[in-house]
Amino acid sequence: MILKSENLDQRAVIERITGQIPRHVLSHYPTPLMRANRLTETLGGIELWFKRDDLISFGLGGNKIRGLEVMLADALAQNADCLITGAGVQSNHVRATAAVAAHAGMHCTAVYWGKPPATIDVNYRVTKMLNAGIRFTDDDERASVDAHIPLVAAELSEQGYRPYAIPRGGACAVGVLGHVLAIFELYQQCLEQNLEPDVIVIAVGSGGTYTGWLLGLRLLNLCWKMHCYTVSREPEQVSQQVADLATEAAALVKLDWTFSPADAPVHGGFIGQGYGIPSQEAAEAIKLTGRTEGILLDPTYTGKAMAGFLHGLQNRQFDACKRIIFLHTGGEPAFFAGNGDDWLNTDLLAV
Ligand SMILES: *Cc1c(COP(=O)(O)O)cnc(C)c1O
Repeated sequence: MILKSENLDQRAVIERITGQIPRHVLSHYPTPLMRANRLTETLGGIELWFKRDDLISFGLGGNKIRGLEVMLADALAQNADCLITGAGVQSNHVRATAAVAAHAGMHCTAVYWGKPPATIDVNYRVTKMLNAGIRFTDDDERASVDAHIPLVAAELSEQGYRPYAIPRGGACAVGVLGHVLAIFELYQQCLEQNLEPDVIVIAVGSGGTYTGWLLGLRLLNLCWKMHCYTVSREPEQVSQQVADLATEAAALVKLDWTFSPADAPVHGGFIGQGYGIPSQEAAEAIKLTGRTEGILLDPTYTGKAMAGFLHGLQNRQFDACKRIIFLHTGGEPAFFAGNGDDWLNTDLLAV
């Protein structure tokens, strides 16, 4: 049964917590929860579903919009007129932030690590089109963005702007609350469809999304297990970051809860050669999902998470499970990036 605890009324929790999370809604919700019939059949037994946050109907979608909806409400409440954030040039988060700023009539500044790239394409093209101010850190360390964001914020303040700084990847406590609302949404969908998952599978980058799901699961007292696959940082580092962020986000909704890294397990081993570099396993997972379901996973996040999940399935990690929901966090623009490399090896493996 979904109602795990007789003295916890989940509906009341949802109402109380949602009331504490101001949100500037930008899309149509709920996003679809779809049974993957042919993939389920192919995988032999375990029922697989997709929660389609890739279909969020704003700014090319993806999970980042959920966090930004709550951050935008916060920024507007603070009378900000400028959003500053950062990551790499192909960041979905930066592209989404630029779209949110445009929609709200705010200025946006994007801080990218490294130097300007040779080509202007995909998310970078969109971000520039949206008229975001662009800064490069001139340092290939991704973390160089973290030091630059406050510097740019101070500079913009001096110019008379009222900036609202969003950490790299959108991983901040306010943004996490947007993902708490996502699990509330999924929970209600599951109730309506009379469906109970055992496991939720997600891709983890900066960890904001995972943090929200973790906090939401605890709020609802659900025993759904999270299986999370890191695509950039080492698992230990992500677990620590997620635990700290969950503790901080809980405080925002007036809960004196602490989370430890043990509460936030993360699978490693599927990053391949590095963040943003397609891996062979991800390519296989993308082809399998595309060819059975017509659903496009991306090479940076969801393809690697699916590869990790399929590996776990093969290694019987999910033998005790009946129903699994894969959170499709978006990222399809990455399909159009690159210099024509056939990273999918489509010729080699066509049937
Ligand atoms: C950012 C992103 C993720 C990971 O979300 P985090 O909150 O950074 O962990 C997953 N999938 C896609 C497509 C993303 O853009």
